[in-house]
Amino acid sequence: MSETPAGERARALAAGAGQVAFAQRWTHRRRTLVRRLTGGRLGRAAPEVVELESPWQDTLSFERGGEGWRARSANLDGEEAFGVDYNVCRRCRAGWVEQPFTYPPYQRCGLASAALAQLRAEHPGYAWFTLGGHEHPARPFWDRVGAAVPGGYRQRALCPHLDT
Ligand SMILES: [Zn+2]
Repeated sequence: MSETPAGERARALAAGAGQVAFAQRWTHRRRTLVRRLTGGRLGRAAPEVVELESPWQDTLSFERGGEGWRARSANLDGEEAFGVDYNVCRRCRAGWVEQPFTYPPYQRCGLASAALAQLRAEHPGYAWFTLGGHEHPARPFWDRVGAAVPGGYRQRALCPHLDT
């Protein structure tokens, strides 16, 4: 466990993972990034800018354009400290998470575990999977967080309802 000030703040952030602001759009920060990535072609026409109050946010995923993909992220000082993309199928009662990423100063402070636990709490009874395989460095993490979880975050293709 990190004992740096960044680590302390990240752990406090992890403890508040249940306080999430939801939006059916991108945040301002993400829109700015989209605009940069597309050379200004996309991101500019979005009619409204969202500035979410909560440090935990749930917005559309721009990394994954497919239907239903959302991004759960945590912010410190206006920057993303953690983010994970996810999608859920109500018919299958199953969820998929992809590419959880914690910025280095905030790693090993429980942000990813807290975010995944919160997503499970919001979808009781769901089984959870990942789309990609687990690269070696991430394997202990997935073994730990998936131990008592239906599905265990094992690799599995999207169900037909989401794979459009
Ligand atoms: Zn399904």
